[in-house]
Amino acid sequence: MTFVAKCFCGCGEKVRGGGRRGANKMGHKTNDHNARLRRAHELLASLAAGGDAANDRQRLIARLESLLAIGDHYESFWAHLAHGNFMPSTAAFLEERREWYEWTKQVTVATRVALSEAARAENAGLSGDGPPSRIAALVAAGDQIDGELSQAPVDDFYIAILLSCRRGAYDVLELFCDGIEDPSTEVDNAPVLAFVASLADPEASERALRNVTWTMAARILTLTWPERRETILGIARAALPLSDEEYEDVWRLAAVTAEELQPIADDDPREDEDVKAGRWFTFCCDSLRLAIEAATGVRPTEVEVLALWTAPLWGECVAQGMDTLRAHLDEIDPVNGDTSL
Ligand SMILES: [Zn+2]
Repeated sequence: MTFVAKCFCGCGEKVRGGGRRGANKMGHKTNDHNARLRRAHELLASLAAGGDAANDRQRLIARLESLLAIGDHYESFWAHLAHGNFMPSTAAFLEERREWYEWTKQVTVATRVALSEAARAENAGLSGDGPPSRIAALVAAGDQIDGELSQAPVDDFYIAILLSCRRGAYDVLELFCDGIEDPSTEVDNAPVLAFVASLADPEASERALRNVTWTMAARILTLTWPERRETILGIARAALPLSDEEYEDVWRLAAVTAEELQPIADDDPREDEDVKAGRWFTFCCDSLRLAIEAATGVRPTEVEVLALWTAPLWGECVAQGMDTLRAHLDEIDPVNGDTSL
């Protein structure tokens, strides 16, 4: 079977061949990141000029602009590769890709800071048109959860991980909403639209952020300590309380994640890649249904979530959120003091 993808640059060309398709994927991601940068830039630029934070805001705007300039470079770099115009040496390619990956992480952080700043300014009444109240609701929910976590009776090591999960979760929700609201996507999936709309409500927003924080925790804790996940999830539960019912859902997500770590049976007739994709897809569908239920009170059926491409989009957002989580963990570099585990 030959996969053919449409070129990310919008030229209408079909991209064939493994290397070119890879470059095309990174081109798509680059486009997404540039769109986020432009949106964050627009939000910050629309804020009133005055206020205590004006200088910080100017610095942030300059930062977004320099990241955008780099993004433009990558857009043309990946387009050249996707078009098959030139192939750099392997070493040069790997170097460029590594730097590009660093750039994507910086974009994630800078846009998150920018959105938080915009939300804070809105709360302080500084903004003109103002960003959507969803961002304000999510930022407030994040502050609330961070505050609870910082006082939780649990080793700092686990607090640090959960704080990182919370940051990842914020990105997942914000990116997913961005994706759904993008006019070019034309989503008319009722549960998903209700979900996105509900996040402007502070209480729904907080429930959703807690839920997705747990999704991230189930995933990272299981990937890191597959054998001891029951103990570690129990510790996490002491820091960020859950009802028995909610814990069952988290436990199922952990089990689905553990399944991803299992070797593929020799007699499995499917391609390894298909099995892996299937396991990941299960995680995405299950976690999206839980997030929707947390926010709206109604758990959609699997069919409703499968409709169109909402689960794959959610999966991309979760993957991006995991990057944020790991970047944050790298930054704070917690040391595990509890050697008994
Ligand atoms: Zn093209």
